[in-house]
Amino acid sequence: MKNNDKKPTSIVVFGGTGDLAKRKLFPAFFNLFLEGWMPDDFELLSLGRTEHTQEEFRAYILENIKAFSRIKNFSEDKWNAFKEKIKFIRFDITQEESFIQLKNQLDYIDTNLGSRANRLFYLSVAPSFIEKVSNSLKKNGLAENVDQDRMIIEKPFGYDKESAVALNTMLAQTFKEEQIYRIDHYLGKENVQNILAFRFGNTIFEPLWNNKYIDSVQITVAETVGVEDRGGYYDGSGALRDMIQNHLMQILCMVAMEAPTEFESTEIRNRKVDVLKSVRRINPEDINHYTVRAQYTQGEVEGQHKRGYLQEPGVNPNSNTETYVAMKFYVDNERWNGVPFYMRTGKSMSEKASSVIISFKEAPCTTFKSTVNTLKPNKLTIDIQPEMDIKLSFMTKKPGLEMQLKPAEMVFDYFECSPDTPEAYETLLLDALDGDSTLFMRSDQVEEAWDVISNIQTAWEKGNVSKMYTYPAGSSGPEAADELLKRQGHYWFTNSQETLKSEENA
Ligand code: NAD
Repeated sequence: MKNNDKKPTSIVVFGGTGDLAKRKLFPAFFNLFLEGWMPDDFELLSLGRTEHTQEEFRAYILENIKAFSRIKNFSEDKWNAFKEKIKFIRFDITQEESFIQLKNQLDYIDTNLGSRANRLFYLSVAPSFIEKVSNSLKKNGLAENVDQDRMIIEKPFGYDKESAVALNTMLAQTFKEEQIYRIDHYLGKENVQNILAFRFGNTIFEPLWNNKYIDSVQITVAETVGVEDRGGYYDGSGALRDMIQNHLMQILCMVAMEAPTEFESTEIRNRKVDVLKSVRRINPEDINHYTVRAQYTQGEVEGQHKRGYLQEPGVNPNSNTETYVAMKFYVDNERWNGVPFYMRTGKSMSEKASSVIISFKEAPCTTFKSTVNTLKPNKLTIDIQPEMDIKLSFMTKKPGLEMQLKPAEMVFDYFECSPDTPEAYETLLLDALDGDSTLFMRSDQVEEAWDVISNIQTAWEKGNVSKMYTYPAGSSGPEAADELLKRQGHYWFTNSQETLKSEENA
């Protein structure tokens, strides 16, 4: 829906002076504006605690747009038009007076418009403020119109299942579920959305998408960054909560879900919840069989010395928080019975890479008995970031007089087709403006995802139940993570181009 069809909207960013707002939200709004996706009439009210003049704040936004925006070439006229939409408001969430001022401001916008504008509230603040903001919005009647008023909530959504249920219950007192947009920015990434297009927009893959043909699935989200200056926050969270419960679990849903009957929010989210309900819960006594956790020690990442996790500022030197997790899940339904889903995520790893790899079963080796050792199972790789592509590996005849086989690859490269794809936050903000919640998490989805990891959380919190392994910063993780797969004759796949080259040269 391009701008002309959109209703006038007042966008309110709580935490408008924070890190997320400067790096992601304002650049995303600006890019949507440049490309004609914002409503013709909108106001961007940015709330923060410190005093700024409008000119100072707009200059600060411009500086960050120049640093972080996808689109860096834009005319001064465009910026001048955009900056008129930005209004900084000094605001203290803890003070009721601030909400009264906000109400006056929103009413003023409506009066000038001559109609009630839609309202989009973005809570880019610490989770501890969600309840206060929600209650004060209710008390002041700021978000009463179910069809027009929406609230975007950032991760983390809860700390465990219990706290997520409590948060959902609290929010339900003020908002209808359709007004709440729980964001997981991974769902806005192009190649994550592409999983559905690839699976359900083609005839040739879906018939193979089951335990008859698929041997195992690997989902990896590896980061080269450590905890940087967020040690205090991270130490209370860890890789299981920060990554597995949300990003990796959502990718799992996209890979494993049944076909939705239509591309529609309720239907798609129902199918995702079905997957989460089918994920086998790991019994506390089996935790070590299914999971590996680890912390990085000092090492070198991309040529730079990195200190160990326990030496990071803000981190408890005796911390029991994991920076790396590898685990195995099963989805106990007809389609996936017996297929292991391996997941891993870590900080301070050797390379930044997020991918899904579907490994198919070995071809029956009746025809090529003599080349059985060189036969490689087909592999489908979906690279999410920084590469964005889909690769299918298959066997071909090696050119020459003999009948020998070698692996080859078909590649669909997103950057080649469209070098300038939108950022995840652009996609998600646009959907929220349009009232499309397909790519946001419903309450039951969040609760079910917490439920999947609940036993692991409990066991790990006991501390002595499973070992905390270590891995040097800049490595590919602890050896124990390799052992997890080796037991079933599997191994972690590395970058498929490198693997392919070494296989070709073998
Ligand atoms: P931040 O600490 O940089 O910013 C927090 C904002 O809250 C600041 O603008 C601050 O002024 C404001 N604030 C604090 N107390 C306030 C009060 N009493 N009244 C009014 N405003 C107040 O945090 P951030 O990194 O921008 O993160 C914001 C939210 O987004 C958090 O929930 C975080 O978990 C989530 N998130 C952030 C990132 C990221 O990349 N930064 C990524 C994913 C999720």
